[in-house]
Amino acid sequence: MTFLQGIAASNGIAIAKGYRLVEPDLSFEKTTIGDSTAEVERFRKAMAKSKSELEAIRDKAKVDLGADKAAIFEAHLLVLSDPELNAPIEDKIQSEKVNAESALKETADMFVLMFEQMDNEYMKERAADIRDVTKRVLAHLLGVQLPNPSMIAEEVIIVAEDLTPSDTAQLNRTFVKGFTTNIGGRTSHSAIMARSMEIPAVVGTKTATEEIINGDLVVVDGLKGEVHINPTPELVAEYRKVHEDYEVQKAEWAKLVNEPTITNDGHHVELAANIGTPKDLKGVIENGGEGVGLYRTEFLYMGRDQLPTEDEQFESYKAVLEGMAGKPVVVRTLDIGGDKELPYLDLPKEMNPFLGFRAIRLCLEEQGIFRTQLRALLRASTFGNLKIMFPMIATLDEFRAAKAILEEERQNLVSAGQAVADKIELGIMVEIPSTAVLADQFAKEVDFFSIGTNDLIQYTMAADRMNQRVSYLYQPYSPSILRLVKMVIDAAHAEGKWAGMCGEMAGDETAIPVLIGLGLDEFSMSATSILKARSLIKNLKKDDMEKLAQEVLNMQTTSQVIEAVQSATTKN
Ligand code: PEP
Ligand code: MG
Repeated sequence: MTFLQGIAASNGIAIAKGYRLVEPDLSFEKTTIGDSTAEVERFRKAMAKSKSELEAIRDKAKVDLGADKAAIFEAHLLVLSDPELNAPIEDKIQSEKVNAESALKETADMFVLMFEQMDNEYMKERAADIRDVTKRVLAHLLGVQLPNPSMIAEEVIIVAEDLTPSDTAQLNRTFVKGFTTNIGGRTSHSAIMARSMEIPAVVGTKTATEEIINGDLVVVDGLKGEVHINPTPELVAEYRKVHEDYEVQKAEWAKLVNEPTITNDGHHVELAANIGTPKDLKGVIENGGEGVGLYRTEFLYMGRDQLPTEDEQFESYKAVLEGMAGKPVVVRTLDIGGDKELPYLDLPKEMNPFLGFRAIRLCLEEQGIFRTQLRALLRASTFGNLKIMFPMIATLDEFRAAKAILEEERQNLVSAGQAVADKIELGIMVEIPSTAVLADQFAKEVDFFSIGTNDLIQYTMAADRMNQRVSYLYQPYSPSILRLVKMVIDAAHAEGKWAGMCGEMAGDETAIPVLIGLGLDEFSMSATSILKARSLIKNLKKDDMEKLAQEVLNMQTTSQVIEAVQSATTKN
């Protein structure tokens, strides 16, 4: 039995077999061969195996994940049957008498290089397809197994270095019971996805991929951040009990599903959910979300090989608005960059991607992408209570520029006879310290703020949210962060606007009492945190929390704040 300590990223207990989402070693030696005809035959066999494997993956992906996700595999099949790629490989084996592995790799590398150098998006995507297909054929030649996450057909715990949004997009929620990764923290996107998928997760274990082999029994304790590999039957029994107790606790919270969120002395706040796809709505409804406070639309753009069309986007936005049946839905425009990459945009690598060309910065420059999204949103606006929010706003000029583009698109649509909602509230994420400091000026022009603490903390403390070595600086309860949060809330209220929070801090049990005291109007969090937060808030008194907030704002350190919150809330 082995034990790993990581970071609790998504609540709950999962017990299942480990499934490694880790690329196997595909290295090989270049050799000369005697019988080139037999070698060509070996190559053809590997191609045939790859083909039938890809066909099976494509068919399953179509059923489980939809035609858009399956399209990637369709493209791979096209590459596989392309004689322009296959013939030179076979020629090379015959004429140079080299092994199939090196003929394949050398020929494929040549095509990849050629396509990548072309100034043509379509050809660049083909380069990525060739790279993927080469890996698959190489794996068959070497007799090793590539992970095929979309083919999982039994309950598993995914084990990976990290999980990208495109990996998670391929996972079937029926079978994936939990996951554990080597890297990441509570606000990395793998953790956020786990919470929206409602599966227990432990991230940042450092060595999960070294310790776990396929088929090991794995316990993921998403409550404490622990992973147990091949635990004793006694420990498994203990965990089954913890799981049951957690389910009982959840059933207790579930009684609050249709209740409003009101403090013990009658102050109402709104508890909304963060979502990444329309599929997450089920969890929002089941957990009593009073709205969607953050729809991270970038997931629509990820895990595929080209931009989503206006119509595809429209359908997703419409589905969410209709699903929420008139409750508020805050849709954030594309926030790509940082740890969220879009390979098909082919943006140059940056030294500091979190400080680079991302989110609204990219949208204001690549206006075609931005305008398509805005048109889809405007068209969907009549299907519910839509609010639009721009990410990573650092200056008023950026907000004004984004708003002007939205207005232009609205005018164009209206002139063309398209129905658009009369009033769409327009807000910004406050996740850059300059914006928090200047919130009084922003508040005159925006309809609302949503504080993005995941980024606001990293930028205020100059501590990368993905870097474990500086995670001690990632301090949501630091008086410095709390003062910024207060500035934003006060600025909104002074102009009669509302202030929400959609960073992970909004669902944090230690932060919530202070945020109630500071007067936060809307808390947006993972759906699975909502009922627990509601139960906590019902026991708080706004008056007491205001005193607590006043006190902690004047403290010196995070640990003092934590202590003050604990003593104020245990008194209640
Ligand atoms: C944030 O920064 O707090 C936020 C909600 O956005 P994301 O986590 O998507 O960067
Ligand atoms: Mg952010």
